[in-house]
Amino acid sequence: MKNESYPYQRIFERDQYTCQYCGWTGATNFEEWFIANFNIDHIKPVNAGGTDEDSNLVLACRSCNLYKGKIDCNSLDEAKAVVAQRREIAKAWFRTNILKESDLTV
Ligand SMILES: [Zn+2]
Repeated sequence: MKNESYPYQRIFERDQYTCQYCGWTGATNFEEWFIANFNIDHIKPVNAGGTDEDSNLVLACRSCNLYKGKIDCNSLDEAKAVVAQRREIAKAWFRTNILKESDLTV
């Protein structure tokens, strides 16, 4: 933690400024970095006994961080699956309510 110019710099660098859940990267241009609004996510939430060890921390874009929420996961793969599942639910909602698609079999 010492000698970092911003909080969790080591995690940002380890994860190459890329969301570990969806792959969105903010490494190459400001607008993409800005939209990502990166957060540090605890794979296993602190309130579920998760620690601040680097192995429990991942870089996540704001959207993925919100979709992951406080769901208790024991591995990055498990957390990725949670985010992917919730993303599909959001996608269905988007198709129905924003695109006004009636055929959801696509
Ligand atoms: Zn993401």
